[in-house]
Amino acid sequence: MRPTCTSNPDAWFPEQAAGARSLANRHALDGCVRCPIRSSCARLALDDPTHLTGIWAGVYVPPPGNQHRARAHALDRLRSIGFPQAMPHEDHRTTA
Ligand code: SF4
Repeated sequence: MRPTCTSNPDAWFPEQAAGARSLANRHALDGCVRCPIRSSCARLALDDPTHLTGIWAGVYVPPPGNQHRARAHALDRLRSIGFPQAMPHEDHRTTA
């Protein structure tokens, strides 16, 4: 099974949070939840989070410099998905 982001990559890079809630981006978020490499995707995203933005592992990460609290929460969610042993109480099935 291929990651769904390979068929429509633009849907994974919405311009802003409102875009992340659009129908197309809801489809992107749902695709991530079923993705066979979701945990690896989260770890890859966290390798260099400085400029990270877009949808990764089912989490919308706002661009740097915007929505500081939402961005911090998104990075925490990625840590819980990429390193679930370190954060055992997080629900990994939901999308941001
Ligand atoms: S989890 Fe990552 S690799 Fe999988 S569909 Fe989502 S963005 Fe693509």
